[in-house]
Amino acid sequence: MLLGEGVTETKGLKVEEIRAEAEKNIKCPVNKALYYMTEFINGQMCGRCLPYSLGSYEARERLRHIVWGKGTEADLFVLRHVMNGMIEGSLCKKGKDTARFVLDWVATGVYEEHVEGRCPDEECAALREYRIIPGKCVMCVICKEACNYNAIIGEKKAPYLSGFPPFEIKQNICIKCGNCVDTCPYDAVEVIERKAKVGV
Ligand code: SF4
Ligand code: SF4
Repeated sequence: MLLGEGVTETKGLKVEEIRAEAEKNIKCPVNKALYYMTEFINGQMCGRCLPYSLGSYEARERLRHIVWGKGTEADLFVLRHVMNGMIEGSLCKKGKDTARFVLDWVATGVYEEHVEGRCPDEECAALREYRIIPGKCVMCVICKEACNYNAIIGEKKAPYLSGFPPFEIKQNICIKCGNCVDTCPYDAVEVIERKAKVGV
């Protein structure tokens, strides 16, 4: 369901149904819009008006940029511009409604935060990292066993602070599934926003 997490299947729903699904299952307003637009494009389009068809493809690309952590102010500007164009130029209610839905999500203000490198709902994987806090990790190996991607390195050692390096998450392997956070009994895995990491 969450396109920011790499899931792309669609169901061919009506626009109101797509919006309801997005509202029900997704927290992040940018991710909601990307889900909506992807479903929308995969449904039937008559192709009679350019603002409707071209605008929806352009919007999906801009939303992908933002969800994947590559968004800029230009993406936001174009997204708003294209959606306003769809409201004015679409021949049917479906196209106008689509643009209104997206603009409602844009108006939440979190799009600007994404461009700065933060997803307040911690849903857009490209904008976060998982890190093990050395001072909290007791090297129990539970997270390593729970990670299905072999992204955690470290050996079980006792006692705590015995001179061995703490467990570590290899960022180039981690797919940000969150299993380690859920399974660590010592609250030693933290989620770091990309913005915080680079000190922006
Ligand atoms: S589960 Fe927690 S305490 Fe145990 S090794 Fe992993 S991070 Fe450290
Ligand atoms: S987030 Fe998932 S893939 Fe990444 S280290 Fe934790 S369990 Fe492994």
